[in-house]
Amino acid sequence: MSDARDELLRIDRRHLWRPYTSSEDHQTQTPLFIERAEGPYLYGAHGERYLDGSGAWWCNNLGHGHPRLRDALTRQAQDIMHCSMAGTVHPSAVLLAQELVDLAPPGLTRVFYSDNGSTSVEVALKMAFQYWQQNGRPGRTRFLALPGGYHGDTIGAMSVGDVGAFNGIFAPLFPGGRPAAEGLPDPAHADDEAGWEALFGALEAALRATPDEIAGVIVEPLIQGAAGMRTYPSRYLQRLREVTREVDTFLICDEVFTGLGRTGTLWASTGAGIAPDLLCTAKGLSGGALPFSATLATERVFDGFRGDKTRALMHGHTFYGNPLGAAVAREVLAIYRDEQILERSQARGAQLAAGFARLADVPGVLRTRSLGMVAAADLGAGGYLGKLGWAVHDEARARGAQLRPLGDTIYVVPPLNIAESALDDLLAIVHASVAAALDEQRVRDHV
Ligand SMILES: *Cc1c(COP(=O)(O)O)cnc(C)c1O
Repeated sequence: MSDARDELLRIDRRHLWRPYTSSEDHQTQTPLFIERAEGPYLYGAHGERYLDGSGAWWCNNLGHGHPRLRDALTRQAQDIMHCSMAGTVHPSAVLLAQELVDLAPPGLTRVFYSDNGSTSVEVALKMAFQYWQQNGRPGRTRFLALPGGYHGDTIGAMSVGDVGAFNGIFAPLFPGGRPAAEGLPDPAHADDEAGWEALFGALEAALRATPDEIAGVIVEPLIQGAAGMRTYPSRYLQRLREVTREVDTFLICDEVFTGLGRTGTLWASTGAGIAPDLLCTAKGLSGGALPFSATLATERVFDGFRGDKTRALMHGHTFYGNPLGAAVAREVLAIYRDEQILERSQARGAQLAAGFARLADVPGVLRTRSLGMVAAADLGAGGYLGKLGWAVHDEARARGAQLRPLGDTIYVVPPLNIAESALDDLLAIVHASVAAALDEQRVRDHV
């Protein structure tokens, strides 16, 4: 058994190129080898079990291997696995559009599919840009975005993102040669109230000063994931919604991470009491099981593309509306309804919040926070390249949990339907791992 695994790891070293991993680290770091997963657990070849604290990269909202998702996938596979949506349609994509619109923030009545979060953002940006090009405001060629924002890894999505370690090197490729958030003040951390006030004030001033240049503003509503699970208050989103409406430009909510109940309501937008003009959804949309995404738009945006062929949105991926993804996404929405996922996750959210509040007592922890089924703790000021989170990662792996830190920030994003006892286990492992890692750090600092 272990021979087979060693051989696979040898092939991995020789031929894979893993994401966000330097070629040097690829040679020296041993990944967790997973053969199977069930609910909140990952299993190795010898039955070792790990709680999946990072939710398969923030998307595993219903646990691994939900039986209804497995069934929906195999049922759809019997009928049709893929057909183009250029001149043809199939039931799953059509019905999903209706079901998404019924659940979306008010006013979002049109659904455009793609196959990952980054492309759902690209589509929103292109819709906003082209809308103004062909509807009388061609000077609107720029986007505004928040410092610390993350919207994906394709070039357009990177250009509105601002996590330096991720996309800084690519800045010369961005429109105007700089990220859309450049020049706006960056809050020091989630609890920096004056910093958030200054940021949204500056954003408002920029919108009012140059409304004829701004095609739209894109934000991660309520929580900036890759910036270190940085939360901010709803009132700033409400203010941004008012200002974008006043200057009549588009507000784009990137709900790739926050959507599907991660923050306690189905959409963070509705939780914040707003409705955007464009909304991006992926990750949890397919229960974290398949690459599948959608961009939702208002009827006004859609109407801006009426007219002859030259006015069409020139965008469409091969796997637009893929039947497997659409069928699974429909089943995800049905599970949320039938199993009352949102209602039942409220108690787990409170449990998670209490667990991370206790973590604040561990010497060395700078601050903690939680929102719905996301909780995070800052252990240092090293940002994404900080190493403290990785020390916690190692401790947690030895205790039976898989965490993926963001530098000096650790977080958990458990399935919304995790059992109370499993969440207790995860919180206990996080607590012990943070205490051990920071203790170790203090010992080292004193040597
Ligand atoms: C993950 C993420 C993306 C990118 O999604 P991919 O499927 O990885 O391309 C975009 N925006 C946000 C807010 C995300 O968290």
